[in-house]
Amino acid sequence: MNRIHLCSTRHLVGIIVLGLGVSASDAAFGQRWISGIPWQQPPVVEPGEDRDPPSDTIVLFDGENLDAWDGGDQWDLRDGYAIARNRDIRTKQHFGDVQLHVEFASPSEARGRGQGRGNSGVFLMDRYEVQILDSWENETYFEGQAASIYNQAPPLVNASRPPGEWQTLDIIFTAPRFDDDGQLQSPAYVTVLHNGVLVQNHWEVQGVTHFNRPPDYRAHGPGPIRLQHHGDPVKFRNIWVREVRQTPAVEEEEAAPTAP
Ligand code: MG
Repeated sequence: MNRIHLCSTRHLVGIIVLGLGVSASDAAFGQRWISGIPWQQPPVVEPGEDRDPPSDTIVLFDGENLDAWDGGDQWDLRDGYAIARNRDIRTKQHFGDVQLHVEFASPSEARGRGQGRGNSGVFLMDRYEVQILDSWENETYFEGQAASIYNQAPPLVNASRPPGEWQTLDIIFTAPRFDDDGQLQSPAYVTVLHNGVLVQNHWEVQGVTHFNRPPDYRAHGPGPIRLQHHGDPVKFRNIWVREVRQTPAVEEEEAAPTAP
């Protein structure tokens, strides 16, 4: 994909998309890599109400403290929620396959536009970003709006709530597998519900969600969950995770005890 040539509709679409929502902060990273796929705008859907967590969760933030996070002391703690500030934060514990629940609220005073409005993100294994953005009546490239797999896949629909209102992301993530030589055996997959609405359905992650170059895979093991500070005071509360493991088969002696 070469942004210079104007010889096809795909290129023109790419250029138009590039013009949407590029903030000054993005400019510091250079030009965004563009897939060239002319995504259509996801429809808007009204989300329903939230739900309580299951009983076997690992609580990452319950409103009391950010002790589970490296860098957590850099974020502002308020009455039951945290506000992104200064730097990204990463869980001290590393994870692979997970079910993850995150609640966030875009700044109630909607400043900026495009990628410069309510930007944050949830990075699985420190690499694969489910985008957080204020996508309430805020145009940007569709594969960069809220609940996109950043720069790869737009959400199926836009289930965003208005700025200031609490929103949920429920993420089911299957880690990529690599062989002993570091070659990719199977890619990562991600399913996302935004405010209870399915927005990513077992999406095959193309690789690390870069801003300025195509996605790629490099072998890695378990990694932290990272919450992004992208310059905007996005609020967070009620963050929990479940490690996804197949329940093992019953041991043979348990299943068929021998007669005395
Ligand atoms: Mg982001």
